[in-house]
Amino acid sequence: MANRDLRSLLTRRHFLRWSQGVMAALGSVPVLGSAVEALGEASPAAKAGMHAAVDYYAKLGVKPIINAYDTVTNLTASTMPPQVQAAVAMAAKKHVQLAELQRACGTYIADKLHCEAAVVSCGASSALSLATAACVQAANGCKPGDIPQEIGTAKFPKNEVIVQKSQRYEYEHAMYIAGIKIVEVSNMEEYQRAFNERTVMTNYLNKFGIIYKDQSIPMEDWIRVAHEHGVPCHCDAAADVPPISNLWKFTEMGFDLVCFSGGKGIRGPQNAGLLLGKKKYIDLAAANNNPGTGIGRGMKVAKEQLVGMVAAVDWILAQTDEGLDREWTRRCNVISDAVKSIPTMKSSVMIPPAENQVPHLILTYDPAVVGVTPREVSARLRTDTTPIFLNEYTGAAKNNQGLPSSVNTIIVETWMLEPGDEYTVARRLHKVLTDPKSVGTYAPRPARG
Ligand SMILES: *Cc1c(COP(=O)(O)O)cnc(C)c1O
Repeated sequence: MANRDLRSLLTRRHFLRWSQGVMAALGSVPVLGSAVEALGEASPAAKAGMHAAVDYYAKLGVKPIINAYDTVTNLTASTMPPQVQAAVAMAAKKHVQLAELQRACGTYIADKLHCEAAVVSCGASSALSLATAACVQAANGCKPGDIPQEIGTAKFPKNEVIVQKSQRYEYEHAMYIAGIKIVEVSNMEEYQRAFNERTVMTNYLNKFGIIYKDQSIPMEDWIRVAHEHGVPCHCDAAADVPPISNLWKFTEMGFDLVCFSGGKGIRGPQNAGLLLGKKKYIDLAAANNNPGTGIGRGMKVAKEQLVGMVAAVDWILAQTDEGLDREWTRRCNVISDAVKSIPTMKSSVMIPPAENQVPHLILTYDPAVVGVTPREVSARLRTDTTPIFLNEYTGAAKNNQGLPSSVNTIIVETWMLEPGDEYTVARRLHKVLTDPKSVGTYAPRPARG
């Protein structure tokens, strides 16, 4: 409804009551004014975009946490740097044509990341779905509207994706929704034999390729064999920035498609992601994406996420791995200094070999001497007034990050801390190690019997 029509519908009295409600909800202080002002047409505050922000976390009773872990989905992954937040806020103010914006973002990102083409998805998981749909289409010559219901039928029979047994993971549903089935292989011989007339794609999980190296076919061989059979390869590198150069390493190595999470180390919106690669496949992926009616229709990337993703790419390219590591190591040192007087405490800073390749603070001590176990430390900090979340492998005998871990080890990550949080973590960690009961709560699990 046009403002003009709306205004004629409302009596001034009604309108004032309505507008005051709206303005109060917006957290704007001056609520009296003309109807025109209230509609945001002439109000100086609206013109300047100066509405006082409402703290909806407080209003909703949702407690902000300190993330001393990493880009975990449930902890809302990362926060956007101020430049990215500002770009998102500005993009929110105007309409554009979504398809035009999506194309322009793809072109811009492909140029910056040295690949043929790019599409912005609503996350790495969505990028994996779009990649699978693109490969299904390339193999079958079908349309986005045929996926998934016609795939694997006599009409479009090609539906097999090859993966390695050591690289099976929780994101495979993102591929299944394109109508495929997975063919698992354990070694090169099985891999060679797995290709047939129904093969549409291979998927490689970079992280497990490094961590389970002895059980994985090396990337170069994986790509070469697939290409000998004319089959495209996708690489899941969702959580593999930093190092920053990974943003072009895998496409340059020959992967046809590579996905990254936008809201992890790149620090864009949590519901943004990148699919990079060969133009032929990216064009097909884009055809399945929003706007459109393919499987990507429910994975909408709004203008705010599109612009946020581009701004985040600009942000990460303005950083250096050394500069970032220096700051994250400094924060590790602030925390280790605070606990160095704890009896038996030993500390080191380590960078894991794959995924989240950032400095991790490893604190090891004897719980029998200190009087609190790492599991209890972690639970108490999480339930403190300002909850602090440590790496969840704290106090775990094993982890899948290629880091040393034991029941006597605390793992603290500092790259997702807001500036200054390192001092809070340092203080609270010292407190819980010296006076455990004064921090949070802890209910040891009853023994099983
Ligand atoms: C996080 C992650 C994803 C999913 O990323 P989103 O951007 O949250 O969709 C996929 N694959 C791997 C390996 C991941 O770590």
